[in-house]
Amino acid sequence: FESEMARLAQLNLVGEMAAGIAHEIRNPMTTIRGFLQLFRENDRHMQKEYIPIMLEELDRANEIITEYLSLAKNKQSHQQPENINRIIEMLLPLIQAEAVMSGKHVHFQLKDCPVIQLDDKEMRQLILNMCMNGLEAMSLGGKLRIETYTEAEHVVLLIADEGIGINEEHLEKLGRPFFTTKDEGTGLGLAICYSIAARHQASIEVQSSEKGTTFLIRFPIPAARIQG
Ligand code: ADP
Ligand code: MG
Repeated sequence: FESEMARLAQLNLVGEMAAGIAHEIRNPMTTIRGFLQLFRENDRHMQKEYIPIMLEELDRANEIITEYLSLAKNKQSHQQPENINRIIEMLLPLIQAEAVMSGKHVHFQLKDCPVIQLDDKEMRQLILNMCMNGLEAMSLGGKLRIETYTEAEHVVLLIADEGIGINEEHLEKLGRPFFTTKDEGTGLGLAICYSIAARHQASIEVQSSEKGTTFLIRFPIPAARIQG
């Protein structure tokens, strides 16, 4: 049973997102249309130069739509009993490669955790989105920490970077669809993380300073698995 306020907030979000996606898709479309018009009026050799840009713009529109769809509220979560460390270990080589490529390093500390209800595809997406953000925040290099541990009734996933941090004004906007401070950002990565966390009844805590940012995602441990 949703409160009237929660329902209104949700409606608002849907409207905001519709406006956002319309805007984001219209930009690449305008570019592509402009080039096509040029092609119709002008000689052929321009095409070689502009087609790659048009393809890039189409890819971008496609990426925005794909990310937007994975935000859909009624999306099915296929959760099953799963060890979060197993999912992280699968991603380890990928994250490590991404970090090393840009002169950063990754530190893993995975403690034994009870099995919890997880959709492993969604979890991979959440972990990758947050790790990418962490790496992108450290343009001058640094360490990305990925840790898991148990805390009373929760399994905690910690993702911490030594990047530029997030100021208070931006902290408030975190997770809002299309909020981005990056030239090439979609602003959907964290919105997806928040919706995945919500489907897992998990909370997200953010701690940030000019020394870096820490995300703490807390997953409930099913009562039957809590060891007294
Ligand atoms: P994008 O990465 O495409 O910009 P996200 O939804 O992933 O979109 O992130 C939204 C914004 O939140 C980023 O543009 C950035 O300003 C801020 N942000 C997210 N994670 C971090 C982080 N680890 N460090 C600093 N800023 C961050
Ligand atoms: Mg991102």
